[in-house]
Amino acid sequence: MRGAAVVHAEEYRCDIGPHVFPMEKFELVRQALIAAGDLDESQILHPGPASREDLLLAHTPEYLDDLAGLRLTRRTACSELPLTAEIVRAYTYAAGGTTLAAREALGRRVAVNIGGGFHHAFADMASGFCYLNDLVIAVQVLRRDGRIRRAAVVDCDLHQGNGTAHLCRSMPEVFTFSIHQEHLYPVKEVSDLDIGLDNGTGDEEYNARLAEGLDRVWEHQPELVLYQAGADPYEDDQLGALKLTLSGLETRDRLVLEGCERRGIPAVVTLGGGYARRLSDTVRIHTRTCQIAIRLARPEPS
Ligand SMILES: [Zn+2]
Repeated sequence: MRGAAVVHAEEYRCDIGPHVFPMEKFELVRQALIAAGDLDESQILHPGPASREDLLLAHTPEYLDDLAGLRLTRRTACSELPLTAEIVRAYTYAAGGTTLAAREALGRRVAVNIGGGFHHAFADMASGFCYLNDLVIAVQVLRRDGRIRRAAVVDCDLHQGNGTAHLCRSMPEVFTFSIHQEHLYPVKEVSDLDIGLDNGTGDEEYNARLAEGLDRVWEHQPELVLYQAGADPYEDDQLGALKLTLSGLETRDRLVLEGCERRGIPAVVTLGGGYARRLSDTVRIHTRTCQIAIRLARPEPS
């Protein structure tokens, strides 16, 4: 085992104007991991942009043409983002990054994309802050290439993984599990397993319900788990009310990542959302998730 693969590209960052989504977090998490000694700059794998052929495994040609042509249509205009070449490029790189991380995870057991997790994107429609569903693209590339048959997406973002659920609705080999705040964006789609939680749920109940959900994931016997590790269930998040503490979020990460490790299931971390009042909290939560993943793949105890 060569240690966890860590994937990142400077192209993930793009200018979306004044916005609640802090695009600079990707670079800040990368810097925090280096500063903490968990990552050497030279180890970072740089993805290219996902190819059109790969994007077509999750998205329609008409939608991809709209994105490439920067055309505001019913397919693109429902995003809550501007539509510029730089932004489309960022999402295309994020999809390339999650795909690279998934490939690497098969050999190394754990991989981290310091980016990605854009779970709201549908086959032919943007949604939320998501243009391209990197999670489903990565799973479908590996399935197309014959590297895996069965996979699971474990989505612990505050928001339901609606795009992922819809994209995978007729793929019995791909188990979608979303645990999220029920009374909140988006309009819910049907995952293989949805756990919708009440406002103010807190650490203890959240992690008990997560553990129950993960039992269903393990029953599916996935050959790869894509983990959407959104930081937005945090108690000081501006968009959410699930009220998890930093410690509760760490327990969450361990339930998912150590659960995969114990069963020998390769896992890929993607970051997803995170809108803490203080950006430093969002960065801290994501950095901790990445550290847990990276340290799991090391021979020495963490
Ligand atoms: Zn979210």
